[in-house]
Amino acid sequence: EPVPADTGKRVLLAAPRGYCAGVDRAVIAVEKALEVHGAPVYVRKEIVHNKFVVETLTDRGAIFVNETDEVPEGARVVFSAHGVSPAVVASAQQRNLQTIDATCPLVTKVHKEAVRFASDDYDILLIGHDGHEEVEGTAGEAPDHIQVVNSPDEVDKVVVRDPDKVVWISQTTLSVDETMETVRRLRERFPTLQDPPSDDICYATQNRQVAMKKLAPHCDLVLVVGSTNSSNSVRLTEVALDAGARASYLIDYAKEIDETWLDGVETVGLSSGASVPEILVQDVLKFLADRGYADVQEVRTATEDLLFSLPRELRADLKKAG
Ligand code: SF4
Repeated sequence: EPVPADTGKRVLLAAPRGYCAGVDRAVIAVEKALEVHGAPVYVRKEIVHNKFVVETLTDRGAIFVNETDEVPEGARVVFSAHGVSPAVVASAQQRNLQTIDATCPLVTKVHKEAVRFASDDYDILLIGHDGHEEVEGTAGEAPDHIQVVNSPDEVDKVVVRDPDKVVWISQTTLSVDETMETVRRLRERFPTLQDPPSDDICYATQNRQVAMKKLAPHCDLVLVVGSTNSSNSVRLTEVALDAGARASYLIDYAKEIDETWLDGVETVGLSSGASVPEILVQDVLKFLADRGYADVQEVRTATEDLLFSLPRELRADLKKAG
């Protein structure tokens, strides 16, 4: 479908946007754990990278910690959607923690690829952002075989043992275009570079970028609801600018919108990252409607109906609880 014609002040609302199946599952996992076991339930790292979600779950009795050694011996801990390295699993076992693993199955899939290529003794180039929790978890599966490549500019620095035995894998929430550029440059250096068996950048990341690319060229301003540590949300602001939006900002809440951003703006694009509850988008729509942007036109490029079942440990607990 074409993007609707310009008719004055309006909002182009991206679809799909917001919650993906992995985030939905992780948030419900913490909620159900609180329901079944009562507070407190410990969560290692932010369950998903969203301020509002973390604050809401904290109010309900979740305690967010950075490492398992902050969790009392024997207590219950949820691992976040971004996944954990085997070292973290081992340290939780040592402390007799009862773990609920809310790692997104699409992240687990990348872990399995890493393990397999490492056991075949490949040099594995993990395209992703150093320091991001998902990258730490994936790299921790095979620290001796994996090196992180942050961007196309880092390709020249890569050193491998055998240039004919190299594979790339990636973080799930990257810019598709930038990743392909990194792969293109890697392949210039390593012509036999092997691709991962399937897309590592997940469906939700890809779908949100496709929708953004369609609406951004029509926008004077693009707002993305999401937190600054949310990789896929930050990528959406970059994709918006690359696709021709005149300006793009990342906000956690409607109240962070600076009124001057709207000066001379006719078309506002709006989307949200995969960790963002829809209520926050609705708050932004209300903010915009109050300022004359009441005409909201959805730009949909895909429909999503993927659902993941809850973590296994939790399903067992729910069954016992009746
Ligand atoms: Fe899973 Fe993708 Fe959502 Fe991350 S963004 S939790 S990989 S579905």
